[in-house]
Amino acid sequence: MDEDLFRVKFWGTRGSVAVSGPEFHKYGGNTVCIEVQCGKHRLIFDTGSGIRQAGEALTREGVESIDIFYTHCHYDHIIGLPYFTPLYDPKMSVRLWSGHMAGIMSTAEMVRQFMRPPWFPVEPDICKACLNFSDFRPLDVLEPYPGVRIITDRLNHPGGCVGYRIEWAGKVLALIFDTEHEKGKLDPVVMKLIEGAQLVVYDCTYTEDEMPRRFGYGHSTWQHGVQLAAAANIGGFALFHHAPSRTDKSLDEFEKRSQERFGGAFAARDFQVIDL
Ligand SMILES: [Zn+2]
Ligand SMILES: [Zn+2]
Repeated sequence: MDEDLFRVKFWGTRGSVAVSGPEFHKYGGNTVCIEVQCGKHRLIFDTGSGIRQAGEALTREGVESIDIFYTHCHYDHIIGLPYFTPLYDPKMSVRLWSGHMAGIMSTAEMVRQFMRPPWFPVEPDICKACLNFSDFRPLDVLEPYPGVRIITDRLNHPGGCVGYRIEWAGKVLALIFDTEHEKGKLDPVVMKLIEGAQLVVYDCTYTEDEMPRRFGYGHSTWQHGVQLAAAANIGGFALFHHAPSRTDKSLDEFEKRSQERFGGAFAARDFQVIDL
């Protein structure tokens, strides 16, 4: 295997709630889950419904150690966790990290509160994998493995959300999942996280036309995203966290219009794989 491999797999690109149907065939309907491969290390960012198939693939590949990083725990980012079969496999080690609720709730408590009756039939004790929990605070720099450097900061989202800048083998991937912008203003926190990145994955839930009705929901637009992209000297820009109402047709149109403003823009789709 290429030791410098830096691979991004989109297992779920939808925000809010999973969708299915012929009008979502191209981009898919799973909620947020991205796998990042840094050499032999496997990192997963959020456990939306897309993580179910990620789990099956990781098992097939014989992976035995996985790190899961949460941006935050809104349902679309956590709902798939109980269906991640590596949790029930005694050969697996899974480490879960979160930083958005630092001082309020630990990562272990967050998972325990979510995975229990009456919302779910069983509690995390049923998991046979070796589970570890790590807590951090936004602005901490994490180093889960030698050479994998993860810079974190707090995004503008109700209840908090962590933005990640992952540095590996001289390249950079930035994950800005849920964040609200102020029209025409380049958020310095976001700018710092994305500056010079080979790929930025960005919350494009709404359009600028929709924003006036959506203030305070904590999301951004593709129009604002490409403005950030152009200012931050980045390579690729992935439109991400698609609203449930976006059909393949509307996402094709957003992709085309965003490319006219920033050449590296594309609408991310489920199961897409990109090597940085
Ligand atoms: Zn979300
Ligand atoms: Zn959210």
